[in-house]
Amino acid sequence: MQRFIYTAAPMRVVFGDGTLAELGEEVARLGLARVALLVTPSQAARGEALAAQLGPLAAGVIARAAMHAPVEVTEAALAELGAMRADGLVAVGGGSAIGLGKALALRTDLPQVAVPTTYAGSEMTPILGQTAGREKQTIRSAKVLPEVVIYDVALTMGLPPALTATSGLNAMAHAVEALYAPDANPVTSLMAEDSIRALAAALPVLVDRPADRPARAEALRGAWLAGACLGTVTVSLHHKLCHVLGGSFGLPHAETHATVLPHAAAYNVPAAPEAMARVARALGASDAVEGLFALSARIGAPRSLAALGLRESDLDQAAEIAAANPYANPRPVTRQGIRDLLGAAFTGR
Ligand code: NAD
Repeated sequence: MQRFIYTAAPMRVVFGDGTLAELGEEVARLGLARVALLVTPSQAARGEALAAQLGPLAAGVIARAAMHAPVEVTEAALAELGAMRADGLVAVGGGSAIGLGKALALRTDLPQVAVPTTYAGSEMTPILGQTAGREKQTIRSAKVLPEVVIYDVALTMGLPPALTATSGLNAMAHAVEALYAPDANPVTSLMAEDSIRALAAALPVLVDRPADRPARAEALRGAWLAGACLGTVTVSLHHKLCHVLGGSFGLPHAETHATVLPHAAAYNVPAAPEAMARVARALGASDAVEGLFALSARIGAPRSLAALGLRESDLDQAAEIAAANPYANPRPVTRQGIRDLLGAAFTGR
């Protein structure tokens, strides 16, 4: 018998095609009257259009969000937020926009509506990853969990094929690690397996036909489930490595997850046979690692850390940092084991 504890995250999820039209209703339902819209600089026009849609419910647009929630960006946004006298936050975009919302919510406790446009999954977690200089800090707090998440398939229709592939594998990594998490439980394992199945079916369709609506819906549903897993259980080696590569070496988030995933899974195969059998089953493959490599090749995801800008001379230091503090992982984490894994991911063997 498996003994487990399952803690559900308190949040409301609105999922569909065209659901962004309900943003005003959701804002009002939270009792908010002046929300700040948070976007990345490249999505400023989308922010302005949404402000127009919300009319008097919008206090203004803050178009500053950046990867890994740099503290100086949050501080500048806090000043803008104060000047707007906003009573709530609406983050629209990928993990960067949602990260800014979380960083502001941590400091102000304002309610948040998150409207994700990628598959990163941050909207489902009580976790904020923020950076101060080269240091990436992870904060877990109920304050950063959005109150409402609106998933709108229409917003993902223009996600370019390359970002679809890498962001989709970023999501899949949450689900794979959930299956062998130390606090895995029957609920998250069900969500994880279905998430992998949905993403594995949808991503190959989407790189060929980015505007396939049923596949977009399936990918977004898979990403939601993966995010829910990430928000509930403790992640292991894969996420630790990506955190180090992104935080200390500036590698791009989704591409790094996509590249590392099959290698981290290969490392854990000997110690997590049941989880890997579920991964394989969900992928429709006879072997989990082969299935992950085949999917990544099929969707044209990046294969080597070298191509993402890591230098060979960084590998020792990356292994050092990743092995410095102990954390949960099915197979014991050793410096040499990580160095070998990173060496393989570096060349894309
Ligand atoms: P991102 O938010 O930086 O988006 C990447 C780029 O794509 C941006 O330029 C963005 O404007 C653009 N974009 C977003 N949606 C688009 C769309 N639908 N069509 C066209 N372009 C679009 O990248 P991401 O991978 O979504 O998020 C990465 C960030 O999220 C990192 O900072 C990471 O640390 C964080 N994250 C946090 C958690 C968590 O639980 N705390 C989980 C996952 C990711």
